[in-house]
Amino acid sequence: MLNRLALALAVTTLVSAADLPPVAQLLVDVIKIDTSNPPGNEDKLAQFLKTKFAPLGFEIDIIETPQKGKSHFIARLRGNGSKKPVLLAAHADVVGVEREKWTVDPFAGVIKDGSVYGRGAIDFKGGLAVFAQAVLDLAKNKVKLDRDVIFLSEADEEGGLYNTTWLARVAWDKIDCEYSLNEGGWIIKGKDGKTSYVSISTADKGGVSLTLNAKGTSTHSSMPRPDNAIYTLARALAKLSSYDTKVKLTPETRMFFSTLSDVSPEPMKTHFKNLLSDDPVKVAEADKIISEDTLLHAIMRNTIAPVLMSAGFRGNVIPGNAEVTLNFRTIPGTTTEELIDEIKEVVQDPRVEITPASMAMTRGPMTPEQKKQMDDYAKMRASLKPSPLDNELYKSLVKHALAVYPTAKVTPYLFQAGTDSSAWRSRGIPVYGIYPYPIDHEDLKRMHGNDERVPISSLETGVDLIYKTLLDVAATKK
Ligand SMILES: [Zn+2]
Repeated sequence: MLNRLALALAVTTLVSAADLPPVAQLLVDVIKIDTSNPPGNEDKLAQFLKTKFAPLGFEIDIIETPQKGKSHFIARLRGNGSKKPVLLAAHADVVGVEREKWTVDPFAGVIKDGSVYGRGAIDFKGGLAVFAQAVLDLAKNKVKLDRDVIFLSEADEEGGLYNTTWLARVAWDKIDCEYSLNEGGWIIKGKDGKTSYVSISTADKGGVSLTLNAKGTSTHSSMPRPDNAIYTLARALAKLSSYDTKVKLTPETRMFFSTLSDVSPEPMKTHFKNLLSDDPVKVAEADKIISEDTLLHAIMRNTIAPVLMSAGFRGNVIPGNAEVTLNFRTIPGTTTEELIDEIKEVVQDPRVEITPASMAMTRGPMTPEQKKQMDDYAKMRASLKPSPLDNELYKSLVKHALAVYPTAKVTPYLFQAGTDSSAWRSRGIPVYGIYPYPIDHEDLKRMHGNDERVPISSLETGVDLIYKTLLDVAATKK
């Protein structure tokens, strides 16, 4: 009985593996290489990718970082050099898992109900597989190129010291390009299963942290005083908890909400439209309803989140101060000084001192130089300008997205968090972000969560989209 079961299982596995399209097989293979960061072990994935790219004539560079087992992988397909390269960047590392909450092994690349399951299926091994497959297909089909096409598998995107900012410092000539694709916007399926919109990110939100330090009299706990620092801090936090920042729409987010209005049924259609109106009452009403979706709430404003708190050192002493760290995710162009003024205005208490905090403080033990590096990085990210919409790569992506997904509208997008695209954007190189596969809201919820998955058919249309876009911008025209 057991033998028969084992045989049946083996047969099923074989059959499904043989039937898998190349991009899904590639995704299964890369999910099986556990790159949970920390520590990442991105070098294992780099060595695997080398076996795929090298035989097809790509020039391979594996850039080792000072951390053992952590490498960036670069594969370059040569063109005739008449134009600057196009680069496709995908991070190799993934966040860890709460294994007991998964119904399948997160590192086995299980195929179930037409989807590939596993950590990174959406973020961003699915994208890595799609980008890699499209680039490999260019080589297989011996497409003549005007420009080099560079595929990059990055280390340390989910955290750590050796991300693309580090890579750009040590090996810029290997990743210099005219423009680039990265993770970012979404291809979203509606309840009817049809693709309703494609968003392409042209900017990322920035990050800033502030410390609120409440001062009081430090004394014996047997004689409490009205100026207790913990109470002062608690009052400040209570004010912040019922405060929200103003709606601040960039040109890209205006286009995004206008697209949402086009593709949504009532009543949301009207709410999205009202958000774009000049009437502050309408905007406030729309904001209230739309903000029930935390993602939409986030992309239309600077967000505030208390993340760390500390006070006191023993049970019979009233501490002289109490401290909280607030993490802000900011609309491009927002300055730290602006945020400090805004929070002062809300807190209205001179006993609470508000100062910039290190962005690095949650990332484990670091040297002062490393901390400074992290802070400079955060500052640089917060000051970046969006990539332009009149760019050849963006326009080509839009054209092919409309062709591959004829039911969809296409819009630019402000990504709600940070990505590794800043290494290029900070050097004036346009970067466009997309998770290149249609997913629904259920799939989206599982990203960084449990039972992460991506439909196989979505991976295939994703390769179609990226391949056609690359032909457009890189192939030699006859
Ligand atoms: Zn990601």
